Amino acid sequence: MSTSELTAQTVQDQVEAWLDANWDPDLTVQRWWKLLADAGLSYPMLAAPFGRGYTREQANGVSAALRAKGAMGPPAGVGTFLAMPTILSHGTPEQIERFVRPALEGAESWCQLFSEPGAGSDLAGLQTRAVRDGDEWVVTGQKVWTSTGQHAEYGILIARTDPDQPKHQGISYFLIPMLQPGIEVRPLREMTGHAVFNEVFLDGARVHDSLRLGDLGAGWAVANTTLNHERAGIGEASGGFGRALTGAVAGHLDRPCHEFLHGARPQMGQGHISPGTLKRFVAMATERGVLGDPLVRQLYAELYTRVQVITWSAKRARGGAGGRTGVEGPLAKIAMTEAVQCGRELGCRILGPDAQLWGDEAMTEGWFQELVVFSPAPGIYGGTDQVQRNIIGERGLGLPKEPGHPRETPFKDLPANAIR
Ligand SMILES: Cc1cc2nc3c(=O)[nH]c(=O)nc-3n(C[C@H](O)[C@H](O)[C@H](O)COP(=O)(O)OP(=O)(O)OC[C@H]3O[C@@H](n4cnc5c(N)ncnc54)[C@H](O)[C@@H]3O)c2cc1C
Repeated sequence: MSTSELTAQTVQDQVEAWLDANWDPDLTVQRWWKLLADAGLSYPMLAAPFGRGYTREQANGVSAALRAKGAMGPPAGVGTFLAMPTILSHGTPEQIERFVRPALEGAESWCQLFSEPGAGSDLAGLQTRAVRDGDEWVVTGQKVWTSTGQHAEYGILIARTDPDQPKHQGISYFLIPMLQPGIEVRPLREMTGHAVFNEVFLDGARVHDSLRLGDLGAGWAVANTTLNHERAGIGEASGGFGRALTGAVAGHLDRPCHEFLHGARPQMGQGHISPGTLKRFVAMATERGVLGDPLVRQLYAELYTRVQVITWSAKRARGGAGGRTGVEGPLAKIAMTEAVQCGRELGCRILGPDAQLWGDEAMTEGWFQELVVFSPAPGIYGGTDQVQRNIIGERGLGLPKEPGHPRETPFKDLPANAIR
């Protein structure tokens, strides 16, 4: 049977048989992720030699098999979500060879060095400078909101390499080693109680020119590839269980998988509502005896409808050029923000005042409470909802651009802290 003829069920059956022969919770995380990568099962939608060239539906069969067998999922995070697809699109053969396989095995950990204190929504207004010194670039500036920067070994970095060029043209994209004297990472604690974000100070940090991704000065286009992946796939859950961290710094690779399977909760982006989350809400409502509550039913119907629309829109977006609007990413991102907020309302209605319990007393093993405190985030990361609406207006509907300076104005001539 050729790959294109495989149904999701056949894939699931085949992968379950493979798991019977290979999955063992006593394996180290490193060994398990390597086995998955060797079998092309880490990201099976990638073409060979990295994946199996599966469609989304076939890949869902892999996820279903991992869940059915209670197996740990593939590595997740900035490495596989953002760095790997960007490197596959823009990298030299040497860069692809060097970085993609380790990302699939979770051997290296990555962070995204895009946002700055004065450049979030106006990302192209970034001030971090990279100045050439022989075969290397010397980078100076500050980044912020850098998720998982404290255990990252590499960062995807955008920096200004030519301030004489207009602001979108003088930017280059680098794959910068994080563990070096010129980089200081300071964690920031969030209201979730976790310290996912960091401030990152670059003071004479060095990156070799061979680690520049794409042409000199073409970093804005490369960054847009990253941002498109971020918007279209935000919160997308990978199959399987467990939440071990990639890379050597976090110290998870040498530990057995079973340590990360405690509570055996499917891997789930906190900023994400999936069909699996819908089932959890039904189970919650059943357990609390509120399935007949009209408001619970109304909110559930709304959430169910939203998830269906998200699923169908994603299918249409993947269905080729016909019928595409070009703004599928921003639309998907806003739809998910609204679904998360709807899920927050539904869960609070189901649990009532108990939704406020935290820590050991938390209902639902705390997953719903985590969703609540994280729920403002999806409307911000990957570009705020307001910015997504601007993109839809300008690129999708052809509305006039926001007022600003002419695009050809050299960056150095733009007034600082003004609309650029
Ligand atoms: C959970 C989380 C994780 C993140 N992880 C990372 C990461 O790993 N790496 C990284 O580089 N960044 C990361 N970010 C940063 C994120 O990309 C920025 O927060 C986002 O782009 C907004 O930038 P800002 O915070 O500077 O807000 P600002 O740009 O200062 O915006 C402030 C407000 O003004 C509004 N606004 C701004 N400009 C416009 C406009 N033109 N039209 C209408 N409204 C406007 C915004 O919508 C917002 O409401 C993360 C953010 C979050 C919440």
